[in-house]
Amino acid sequence: MSDQHKFVLDESKLPKAWYNINADLPVPPQPVLHPGTMEPVTPDFLGVLFPMNLIMQEISPERWIEIPEPVRDVYKLWRPTPMYRATRLEKALDTPAHIYYKYEGVSPVGSHKPNTAVPQAFFNKEAGTKALTTETGAGQWGSALAMACNFFGLDLEIYMVKVSYHQKPYRRIIMENFGANVYASPTDRTQFGKSVLAKDPNNNGSLGMAISEAVEVAATSNGAKKYSLGSVLGHVLMHQTVIGIESLQQMEMAGEYPDMVIGCAGGGSNFAGFTYPFLHKNFTEKKGTKVIAVEPASCPSLTKGKYTFDYGDTAAMAPIMKMYTLGHTFMPPGIHAGGLRYHGMAASVSAMVDHGDIEARAVQQLETFAAAVQFSKAEGIIPAPESSHAVCVAIQEALKCKRDGTKKVIAFNLSGHGHFDMTAYDDYHQGKLQDFEYPKAMVEEAMTHLPKVKL
Ligand SMILES: *Cc1c(COP(=O)(O)O)cnc(C)c1O
Repeated sequence: MSDQHKFVLDESKLPKAWYNINADLPVPPQPVLHPGTMEPVTPDFLGVLFPMNLIMQEISPERWIEIPEPVRDVYKLWRPTPMYRATRLEKALDTPAHIYYKYEGVSPVGSHKPNTAVPQAFFNKEAGTKALTTETGAGQWGSALAMACNFFGLDLEIYMVKVSYHQKPYRRIIMENFGANVYASPTDRTQFGKSVLAKDPNNNGSLGMAISEAVEVAATSNGAKKYSLGSVLGHVLMHQTVIGIESLQQMEMAGEYPDMVIGCAGGGSNFAGFTYPFLHKNFTEKKGTKVIAVEPASCPSLTKGKYTFDYGDTAAMAPIMKMYTLGHTFMPPGIHAGGLRYHGMAASVSAMVDHGDIEARAVQQLETFAAAVQFSKAEGIIPAPESSHAVCVAIQEALKCKRDGTKKVIAFNLSGHGHFDMTAYDDYHQGKLQDFEYPKAMVEEAMTHLPKVKL
């Protein structure tokens, strides 16, 4: 075992291929259905929204998919990212456990999201796309895609949830700095937005509405514009596996192998990116690493949702997938971890939770902030509220090791920093934050709107 605290890989160790879990899934993938006909979708249908090269990645059975050189060139601006052993946190917790974390907050926009934004922009450019559309909540995804489109010379239209557009201007300014056009959704630029504004001119918007606007613009552009999504889809999760592939090398430098790997899960992309290369070892080398996905108790798709077919978006315009869902009309409470407020979960994560390969946990808002503050005091990094969910369970597991007197190796993904979320920390320090009960009645109501799929 090494007594180093920081594990840094040379640029030459940057992965040359992404890992595609489709090749190793312990259960066959479920068909993706057309939102209108409820029959399996054809590549042609998906081709309205996505370029064919990304669709081929989505359905590819190949285990390793080469990362093109121009993508690796951009990755090299911040990758490989560091992995740390959190020795100061271990001391603060007085635990025999060893805690490691992979830090994705060193990317230019402060999260893991550029890992997929860059290849999505690249493959769109290759396919002849001129412009992309997307949605963003607080702006983590929008700022990542704006940077990527800027590098590859693509125009970008971003539909940003109106309340965030006005209350959280800094990431909007980052997007505009990179040349993106940012609109406060609902807008009068789409039929869907107009219909919302006609009923309620003061509507503050939601991520589901912003998705519907971005999808409508791409779908009605006669092929000029394509749509880009920052999580949930298979190719997005695959692009993120650079995180875990690097982490395997860094654990080897540390001379240890994790007993458990932990990630926060909104749509599943940073979780999958970090843990799938370890799951690959579980599947192919009989390693027994425990894999834990952490979600908010107020939006608990994996722990309280149903594993069934549902629409990917609120307006029921996106394809139907089999996933853990709270119902596509479910509106989660306004917790600060905005990136974890999605009603569903990536299909592969859902399938492996159902199959027992992945464990899911739900944690409350206040305990995540308590964990994040404790972590920052020990390690100096202020985590994003989303990442704090992973921090929270890592600390819980380390304290369990202390009680049981066991010396486990715990590794988690710190998906981003929280520098644009300081209002949330301020509210926490002033005692203004609260926990939200699991909104049982709202979920039951949303469940009545599931698509009636005949399969
Ligand atoms: C967007 C975001 C998440 C949640 O998205 P996933 O696709 O589940 O990874 C988590 N952490 C950070 C820092 C984010 O920006």
